[in-house]
Amino acid sequence: MRDLKQLIPRKQREERQIEFVTNQHCNFRCFGCDSFSDIIKSPNFDNLVKEDIVNWSKVLVPLSNQSLINCKKVKFIGGETLLTKNLGSFLKVAAENFTADWEIAFHTNGLLLKKNEDLIRLCNDLNVRIYITIHFNDKKYLDRLIENINYTQKFVKDIRLVNSAKYWYSFHKYDKGKIYPFNNDSKLMYENCFASSCRQILNGYMYKCSKLSNLHAALEQTNQLDDPQWKKYLEYKPIHYSNSKEEIVKFFNKKEEDICSGCNTTETYDNVTKMNGMTF
Ligand code: SF4
Ligand code: SF4
Repeated sequence: MRDLKQLIPRKQREERQIEFVTNQHCNFRCFGCDSFSDIIKSPNFDNLVKEDIVNWSKVLVPLSNQSLINCKKVKFIGGETLLTKNLGSFLKVAAENFTADWEIAFHTNGLLLKKNEDLIRLCNDLNVRIYITIHFNDKKYLDRLIENINYTQKFVKDIRLVNSAKYWYSFHKYDKGKIYPFNNDSKLMYENCFASSCRQILNGYMYKCSKLSNLHAALEQTNQLDDPQWKKYLEYKPIHYSNSKEEIVKFFNKKEEDICSGCNTTETYDNVTKMNGMTF
């Protein structure tokens, strides 16, 4: 691992975004995935229902209009979102319920785009932005990715590329098939964290970030739900849309918390480690 420069300027990270988790598994297995998708193998399509999108929009749009939260972006995220058959209907519900001043988008690792022409066309119709992450500098992988990007551009203009090939934080340690939290300075970890602007919604509840929303499923997979090292992280309480407006605003605007000590956002994995033996 090597030292890391700050990926997103702090000022930019003050603006937050909502991420609805569509599913937790992925066709990749990037080492250190912040959604634990290298660990969570079982397909899980029950994380998101349309009612969650409608109910959260009823809470978030007015809070944003009143400037109680700094947020005008709603995204769909995995795992790999294109493994979710319902993505198109989720995008439609978001477009109907978040006002036109909100950006609506989904994230993908890109390699399944060519198999999803109808969805790509729908994005164009709904003004949905597609974020494609560049994960590795491997040539075969890049060739396949570029092929998918060129194909997508035939149907939709609004594509953003996110380069994570250079920057890859470690959100947890690995040891003999198990995972463990670090024990770092929580303020420093939070301040350097690119995920700190993302509030994730899973099964109707909002979490501080992807690490906390997906942790339970990952520890279930590694048989560590009783591991004392994860106790305080598993005790972390997300918030529901039925909570009061004051509670939601307070939760949404929280900065560093004790549980940020479990991450290691000042070091990153090199590309080969991150590829985790994958070939393309
Ligand atoms: S492509 Fe994204 S979700 Fe999939 S394993 Fe890699 S980082 Fe995780
Ligand atoms: S727990 Fe804190 S430092 Fe870790 S990913 Fe979440 S916001 Fe970032």
